Amino acid sequence: MITSILPIYNRAPLTFVSGSGSWLVEADGRRFLDFGAGIAVNVLGHAHPELVVALMEQANKLWHVSNLYHIEPQQKLADLLVEHTFSDTVFFSNSGTEACELAVKMARKYHYDKGAPDRTDIITFEGSFHGRSAAGIAAAGSEKMTKGFGPLLPGFVHLPFDDHDALAEAVKSATVGAIMVEPVQGEGGIRALSDACLKGMRDLCDEHGILMILDEVQCGVARTGKLFAHEWSGITPDIMMVAKGIGGGFPLGAVLATQNAASGMTAGTHGSTYGGNPLACAVGCKVMEIVSESAFIDDVNRKADLLRQKLESLVIGNPMVFDSVRGSGLMLGLKCKATNTDIVQAGYAKNLLTVPAADNVIRLIPPLNISDNEIDEAVIRLEKAATQVALTF
Ligand SMILES: *Cc1c(COP(=O)(O)O)cnc(C)c1O
Repeated sequence: MITSILPIYNRAPLTFVSGSGSWLVEADGRRFLDFGAGIAVNVLGHAHPELVVALMEQANKLWHVSNLYHIEPQQKLADLLVEHTFSDTVFFSNSGTEACELAVKMARKYHYDKGAPDRTDIITFEGSFHGRSAAGIAAAGSEKMTKGFGPLLPGFVHLPFDDHDALAEAVKSATVGAIMVEPVQGEGGIRALSDACLKGMRDLCDEHGILMILDEVQCGVARTGKLFAHEWSGITPDIMMVAKGIGGGFPLGAVLATQNAASGMTAGTHGSTYGGNPLACAVGCKVMEIVSESAFIDDVNRKADLLRQKLESLVIGNPMVFDSVRGSGLMLGLKCKATNTDIVQAGYAKNLLTVPAADNVIRLIPPLNISDNEIDEAVIRLEKAATQVALTF
């Protein structure tokens, strides 16, 4: 049946009309505790007062000017990101998918300019997600995303996730130019790349002159208890994709890069009409100011420990429904024995929002400024949802 909105989503029968902090209000007045945060987007919850002010103040001054001119909030946000990360330079987009597009182009142009135009292949991993554009689906490579959309963009080599030996073999090919990986897979089921694999990947990249591209669209922006997830392993990438949390709910993405990796991207080689617009960047600056504070990050880690402990108990208490807890920081997953979507739906009936992921996992990705009480409340509601699902066995 045709609908006025292209029916590409299976939507829950819920319509949210307002939000405040970690709570969303349904059209009928019910209040839902939001452990999905718009899929790891609303890092400071809904209608955060400082983000509202940042947006309103900018809205009263200037919405849009072309990138033909200098844009003050864009410059400020780029400086903040460079100050707090490995990067020397930043390009702004409106989404993670667009960040992926530039990451792919940047890697290929780098090798082209260095006199190695055949090094066009980018290694990616099973279970990955890099967006829904032609490059994004080819990068992920799964049948679910690519079937019927061929011919696919060539030049992606798909390997098993977290398999160092397979990687060490694949990088021997003279056509490999880059590796693209999520330090913690989101859509793939909250699967964290082991420290050893991430470090080994960095070594292989250095050894073979390959660029390391990290997709931190979902796991970045303090989500795992570091400003960016790769900081846990002590390595740095050459290129990093960021989006979701960086705009706190306003569409914003970015590609961060070292001067060397970005060397091919000269005037005229890429662009965006809206990327880096004043509204998005004004909000992005405020998000960065708040989440990069060490006290804020410390609190994310403390609350992550609290949530994790409670989830471990929940799993032990409901062995028929849950299998285990996985993930990092406030990017946690519950691997289920029952069907994950049944538990998510039972959660809706308890006014709790969670998000399913691949591998029969439920994602728990709340606002990072969630309170201890809200964590307690969410686990109580999950327990009720689990009990409900267990009754149907
Ligand atoms: C969501 C996501 C993307 C795509 O971002 P959009 O803003 O939806 O285009 C890319 N990579 C990862 C890891 C993501 O989670």
